[in-house]
Amino acid sequence: MYEKTIKFIKELYGNQEFTPLSVPKFIGNEKKFLNECIDTTFVSSVGKFVDRFEKDMAAYTGAKRAVVCVSGTNALHMAMMLVGVERDDEVLTQALTFIATCNAISYIGAHPVFIDVDKSTMGLSPDAVKEWLVKNAEIKNGQCYDKHTGRRVKACVPMHTFGHPVRIEELAAICAEWHIELVEDAAESVGSKYKGIHTGLFGIVGALSFNGNKTITTGGGGMLLFMDEELGALAKHLTTQAKVPHRWEFKHDHIGYNYRMPNINAALGCAQLEHLDEYIADKRATAAAYAEYFKNVDGIDFFTEPENSFSNYWLNVVILPDHDKQLEFLQETNDNGVMTRPIWELMNRLPMFEHCLHDSLENTIWFADRVVNIPSSVRCL
Ligand SMILES: *Cc1c(COP(=O)(O)O)cnc(C)c1O
Repeated sequence: MYEKTIKFIKELYGNQEFTPLSVPKFIGNEKKFLNECIDTTFVSSVGKFVDRFEKDMAAYTGAKRAVVCVSGTNALHMAMMLVGVERDDEVLTQALTFIATCNAISYIGAHPVFIDVDKSTMGLSPDAVKEWLVKNAEIKNGQCYDKHTGRRVKACVPMHTFGHPVRIEELAAICAEWHIELVEDAAESVGSKYKGIHTGLFGIVGALSFNGNKTITTGGGGMLLFMDEELGALAKHLTTQAKVPHRWEFKHDHIGYNYRMPNINAALGCAQLEHLDEYIADKRATAAAYAEYFKNVDGIDFFTEPENSFSNYWLNVVILPDHDKQLEFLQETNDNGVMTRPIWELMNRLPMFEHCLHDSLENTIWFADRVVNIPSSVRCL
């Protein structure tokens, strides 16, 4: 039933036996920088690439400070701690996300609350957040509380799904009005911008991921982005065991974390970053080719970037008419060497989170029944 589409995708990616969903691309200084690490023995927690990657990423994104982490997940965990989320707090987020978002909230002992996404962005809906707050929340002593559970509502974590920016300015305004800290899960949206500003810079802190399947990779890795330099400095301190700087003394002034990215991973990151803009241009060209093709295909819609946004098109999205068609499409593409996959199982359907509060999740469920990710790797470089 989908032969033509399978043929199109295969051709787009040069008719390989198997077309993967999203694989890394190494076309620059990766080997040179890695060799430099080995030749100088600086492979671990100290080395120039760590500092360089942070500086280069801050310059690229426009952040005042960038701090590398071992993974996007522990970047998010650190972000939760930095904005003061505590045990038993509630944190508003999406059910339509990768599990890392909810794991980070759970590490603190806080409770995710799942709010619906927008049809236009696939990310957290400002309208739905506002509606939930008006119905369920009140301000007491300058803090937001859930009237029904008595828990403090401390933070809100929107996620820029598949690289498409959410309506982040509106979310920031709502969070400010309700005294809620805004943390952006920008793990999928390196290079994506909202009104010309890089995602991850609208809240107090933003988290990126450089896992192997992301737009650029450090093998494994993550990063925190800050507009507040002091908070960035605190993050650096806490992610490096909170050691008080001294030439030989080993003293620590806080419970710290060994969340620092090793120099060899940062070396990979520096080399990857040199080509990030080319990767994104290539991915956007692929998205444009898909958009053009699917215009003439009945029963499959291609999802395009929302208004006011520049998307990195990390993973391309098609929308099938219903859940049966979604399964058919998944079956036929995967049977024929084209890797596709559905959206993550919704968080509120997983055993660890099925007891969590949520709103109607109407659009969330609509997407879960219809979305399929199609091959999205960098293609022409
Ligand atoms: C990839 C990703 C993360 C972080 O994952 P790591 O593998 O720990 O780097 C976090 N949130 C979302 C939504 C992601 O897609």
